[in-house]
Amino acid sequence: MVSRAQAATPGTLHIVSTPIGNLGDLSPRAVETLGGVAAILAEDTRHSRVLLDRNAIRTPLLAHHEHNEAESTPGFVARLLAGESLALISDAGTPLLSDPGARLVRAAIDAGVPVSPVPGPSALLAALAGAGLDAERFTFYGFLARKGKERGATLAAVVALPHTAVLYEAPTRLAATLRALADAGAGERQAVVARELTKQFEEFRRGTVHELAAYYEAQEPRGEIVLLVEGAAPVVADEATLRARAAELRASGMSARDVVQDLMETAGAPRNLAYRIAHE
Ligand code: SAM
Repeated sequence: MVSRAQAATPGTLHIVSTPIGNLGDLSPRAVETLGGVAAILAEDTRHSRVLLDRNAIRTPLLAHHEHNEAESTPGFVARLLAGESLALISDAGTPLLSDPGARLVRAAIDAGVPVSPVPGPSALLAALAGAGLDAERFTFYGFLARKGKERGATLAAVVALPHTAVLYEAPTRLAATLRALADAGAGERQAVVARELTKQFEEFRRGTVHELAAYYEAQEPRGEIVLLVEGAAPVVADEATLRARAAELRASGMSARDVVQDLMETAGAPRNLAYRIAHE
């Protein structure tokens, strides 16, 4: 246990995003922050040293990864409470997104330490930005469980989802995941495989889930992958059902405007029909 005096003002825990492939994506503010803290907490210190050396950042690096998070967190919180500022980075992209850091952030917040992000690259947002699927609403699943009940439940949830699903996937498992999604009922859905984002061989491959499954069964992809699947088309309820729902919602005190929204979102009604029924 580290024992340190508590400073009048604690330091700040900075959560710093780093490149997902293209080293040019490290922001000037990330460089400034990483250069100005007492220590940088990294998943793999040897890996991160390359990035820091490239940017002439001489700040000490300390290991903070999924295997030592539980033991190292109290010591880091003590340093923050003693007034030192620290920066958390992961091997690539934004910490906490399928990467370690959640425990430390929670502990810092519980201890009253300010947590401040320095946003930047994440494969999730880069994929979503370039995929061409609806990005207004999406659900991020991170990595699928490899097998078992949890995998089946997540696949079923993706198939039922009314908006875009985003998953991280290993190249060796991509074809099997696409096939499982097709078998679960999403075969005709549009999907995008975003591969090697920001790197030399960046690629967006688009098609139905079924087409992409067949493509990747024939050739296993290389590199890092984000899989995006279009949401399920809403099942439009018939007019009598819409009318009954609208009457019920209006009776409960909901405004006509909110009823329109509800009929569109939960019952798949086109806007003009939802509007007419909500105002009847
Ligand atoms: N924290 C990171 C982020 O913000 O995106 C992700 C870390 S997670 C351990 C690594 C996974 O992210 C990879 O297996 C892949 O699914 C995805 N990924 C990371 N970099 C990528 C890239 N350049 N292109 C496509 N996917 C990438």
